[in-house]
Order: sequence, then C-alpha cells, then structure tokens
Amino acid sequence: MNEARAADKTAPRVLVVEDEPALSLLLSYNLEAEGFIVERVERGDEAELKLQEAPPDIVILDWMLPGVSGLEICRRLRARDATRTLPVIMLTARGEEAERVRGLAVGADDYVVKPFSVPELMARVKALLRRAKPERVAAQLVAGDLELDRETRRLRRAGREVHLGPTEFRLLEHLMEKPGRVFSRGQLLDSVWGMSAEIDERTVDVHVGRLRKALVRGREKDPIRTVRGAGYSLDETLLRG
Ligand code: CA
Repeated sequence: MNEARAADKTAPRVLVVEDEPALSLLLSYNLEAEGFIVERVERGDEAELKLQEAPPDIVILDWMLPGVSGLEICRRLRARDATRTLPVIMLTARGEEAERVRGLAVGADDYVVKPFSVPELMARVKALLRRAKPERVAAQLVAGDLELDRETRRLRRAGREVHLGPTEFRLLEHLMEKPGRVFSRGQLLDSVWGMSAEIDERTVDVHVGRLRKALVRGREKDPIRTVRGAGYSLDETLLRG
C-alpha cells in the first residue's frame, strides 16, 4: 500500500483482532456506526498476514488469541519499520498490574480490560487516532455557525466564544458528529455519560436545557431539535444556512 492511498480522505480503517465472535461483531457494529471501515480476523496468524499486506489506520488487538498471541503480534509490529508507529489498543481479560505493564512494554499505545464499556473503547479509539493520525480525524466540527474544536475544547457560535460545562460540551460534540440523527435519551446516556452511569433519563433534558441556554442568544435559532417521543438531534437545517 503506497503513501498516496494512505493519505486520502476515505474513512479510517480499523482491524479488529478478536476470537470471541459476539464481541468482534459488537465492536464492528459500533465502529461502523462511527464511520470506520472495519476488517475482522479471529486468529493471530491471520492478523499477521493482514498487517503485512495492508496495515490499517488502527488495530484493536485481543491479548489471548489462537495462532499467535496479541502480545507477540504487538512485539512484531513494533519491530518492523512499516508498522512501528501503527496505533494499537490491546484488549485484555487480565486486570493484573504486571500484565498491563507487559502490554505497554511491548509497545501497545493503550489497553482496555474486559469487560469494558463500548463507549469507553470508542472514545479511546478516537482519541488515539487523533493523537497518532490527526489528519484522519477532524479536530474541528462545524455545523452552520457552530464551530467546535476538540483539541482546545472551545466552542464558537457566529464567531463568539461560548462557555460550556464538560457534560454540555460532550453532548454537543456527540450531536455534531451526526447532524440530523435523532438520539434517544438512553443512547445519549450511554454515549455521553457512559454505560456505568446509573442516571435518570431526565438528566439528559436538564443538560440539553443548559446547552440551549448557553448557545442561543437573542433571536438566534435553537440548534437542538426535540423530537417528541424519540429524543434529540442537531438541527440539520442549520447546515443549509
Ligand atoms: Ca481472546
């Protein structure tokens, strides 16, 4: 694979190396929903072949695999020039500190311990990709007169700076990633607050209210749409001006 192809504007490619079919499918489904092109393999030796043929933009690598272990794959990736800096997130069932240290010692960029929350893993995948390949993930999200910068955590509306609390910022970021798409309160709780959060769905309404209050000044249009019985979305008509 040549550099010109690697640098084009297509969706980022992720290789999922996981031998539990249900988990592999769950990851694949969520990654595709986030706009990734996903390839899946179940065996370590298959992963080796894939990684030599066409390295993806990021690898999610299970530790315990048939064929060759995730640890060994990671070690080999780091030994080859072509994949020395390839972003790798290891999945491990081992919560022991010594094992985590071993994973990082062979060059994994990050790791999550099973069982993990999917939004947590998605956030780490995106953060790692932003760090390792900033050209593959936009630092700025723009919709109408809203400009959100993920690196500086700043938001502007019509050029003026808008101050948001951390939850309101994440909520708006999530809505701006998919303008027009309606998210239920439950989906927003999962994605913005995380699955471990035992929070009443009305909390979402409270934060949407705060977000609106911060965003709308004078006669400006409300950028958040309430869809009765369904949830909230970023009003995509904003994008048309
Ligand atoms: Ca496994």
